[in-house]
Amino acid sequence: MTLNKNVQTFVGCVSEYEDAEIVLFGAPFDSTTSYRPGTRFASSAIRTESIGLELYSPYSDYGLEDCKVCDSGDLILPFGSAERALEAIYERSKAIVKDNKIPFMIGGEHTVTYGSVRAVFEKYPDLHIIHFDAHTDLRDTYYGEYYSHATVLKRCYDLVGDHKIFHFGLRSGAREEFVFAQEHSYIEKSSCDTLVDILPQLKGKPVYITIDLDVLDPSNFPGTGTPEAGGINFTQLLNSVLAMSHLNIVGYDINELSPIYDQSGASTALACKLTREILIAVSKNRAK
Ligand code: MN
Ligand code: MN
Repeated sequence: MTLNKNVQTFVGCVSEYEDAEIVLFGAPFDSTTSYRPGTRFASSAIRTESIGLELYSPYSDYGLEDCKVCDSGDLILPFGSAERALEAIYERSKAIVKDNKIPFMIGGEHTVTYGSVRAVFEKYPDLHIIHFDAHTDLRDTYYGEYYSHATVLKRCYDLVGDHKIFHFGLRSGAREEFVFAQEHSYIEKSSCDTLVDILPQLKGKPVYITIDLDVLDPSNFPGTGTPEAGGINFTQLLNSVLAMSHLNIVGYDINELSPIYDQSGASTALACKLTREILIAVSKNRAK
């Protein structure tokens, strides 16, 4: 009898890199987290708990077995240096984008998004960003830090410029951040009802989607470091994922799951299911 080596991937994501359209990787970094750390454990928890998922999505009527996804594992990131962590993330995303594949990153705190966006932006200078979050993340610095989960969308803005970012669900931040968002980008506070209205103007344009899972109401998703009451529910987020799948998506991430703050495991289970639905929706659209 021959025993196989133990290689754990997100369930069903067993394509070789060469064959893959989407390349998944984890960015287990939480060194600038302002309130409660723990997001560094998200990608391994999602991978482990994904074993409980069906491969089939009844929402998309499509299965993970039909998707070309390679799980390239977790990056090994330095502790305490956001700059060096972002550099490692940038290099991973750059390699994936260079090969005309879509990077799908699992954070980590939201800071990690900047590393991937920078790589994607280099290839697609007309990059647009759709951002789901409870928080504005538009401070220029935070406690003196230039790279932080409270500044990450400002760093992205510094790259892509005016009217390229579309914010949904925001309900916490400084007044100046909301003013900035209104003047320089699109914003819908607290919810995502108008997502369908902005999708036509993004048709054909390269789009990066970043989902800070604290956009969800803490009753749906308590497993996060900075819970913020008054958010959307899973169905609203899922419907948004499905609606966005028709866009020209060139990069994707989900972030800010902190498994240890939800002992029930329901938040991790939600993140697993959302990951499956994203991978399936994007793959199905590309197969058309
Ligand atoms: Mn955020
Ligand atoms: Mn947030």
